[in-house]
Amino acid sequence: MAKLLEGKPIAEKIKEQIKQEIVSLKIKPVLASMQVGDNAGAESYAKSQKKLAESLGIEYQFHKLNQDTSESELIQFIQKLNSDNSINGIIVQMPLPAQIDYKKISQFILPEKDAEGMHPANIGKIVFGKANILPCTVAAVMELLKETGVNLYGKEVVIVGHSEIVGKPLALLLLEKFATVTVCHIGTSKAGKLEEHVKKAEILIVAVGKAGLIKGEWVKEGAIVIDVGINRVGDKIVGDVEFEEAEKRASYITPVPGGVGPLTVTMLMRNLVEAAKLQQ
Ligand code: NDP
Repeated sequence: MAKLLEGKPIAEKIKEQIKQEIVSLKIKPVLASMQVGDNAGAESYAKSQKKLAESLGIEYQFHKLNQDTSESELIQFIQKLNSDNSINGIIVQMPLPAQIDYKKISQFILPEKDAEGMHPANIGKIVFGKANILPCTVAAVMELLKETGVNLYGKEVVIVGHSEIVGKPLALLLLEKFATVTVCHIGTSKAGKLEEHVKKAEILIVAVGKAGLIKGEWVKEGAIVIDVGINRVGDKIVGDVEFEEAEKRASYITPVPGGVGPLTVTMLMRNLVEAAKLQQ
């Protein structure tokens, strides 16, 4: 039976490290968050960010812009925050209204204020093994792997999902650690080869958003399973991996909810501290 790889206890340890780093920064770091239009989900996420930020000694500034804000108005707003020396990090809450392209506007956030780690310059640094600000979910997965004590060198890692925020940057980072990385995606599934790849995985990381995509019996005996997926099924939240069967075979497995999720927002705060250090 697998050991449960829970995010919360790891997050607690990292929060203590963040508090200490803030003391040595000798400033109260400021995170500016922007939301465009009304969205209950984004608002509640921002509230939980604010609560965490304040508990760590970070000032959280929330800016709500009108639903009809244009792309150029949002860019102007970002540029104002970029040039404000009292602001250390910037985050744009999702979802954005249809007139705004996140990929376009995220490029206007200064890389050294990019708390989400999604600026092309920060993603590019991963290729060179020089990243100091990582996409939050990727950083969360790396912390979970660290907790298992696994040596990634030469390990057979299979990532399912090749999104820009999870699969692709994670693959690059794991390559840096000399893992043998296979990235599966919709093409792999359509070619009928997903099961074959998943069965080889000593470390399996799934970030798709489809409940039950990964059958429990595909999980290799002793594998480490990190399930990033979040799916609502009836009144329950589940991941992408069939948990009950996978748990019997894996050595470690993340619960959903309670695995990757609780760490992601903590990684945002760690990025902010990194950003503040870069600015100093
Ligand atoms: P995206 O929709 O951007 O990416 C999903 C990926 O899965 C794509 O690469 C897609 O390929 C691939 N895919 C879709 N269907 C299949 C299939 N049948 N077989 C194999 N691959 C498939 O999602 P995100 O990366 O943003 O998020 C993935 C999941 O992780 C979601 O459930 C999301 O809610 C969750 N998530 C959780 C976080 C947390 O903190 N716990 C943070 C971020 C995300 P293609 O694009 O080619 O179709």
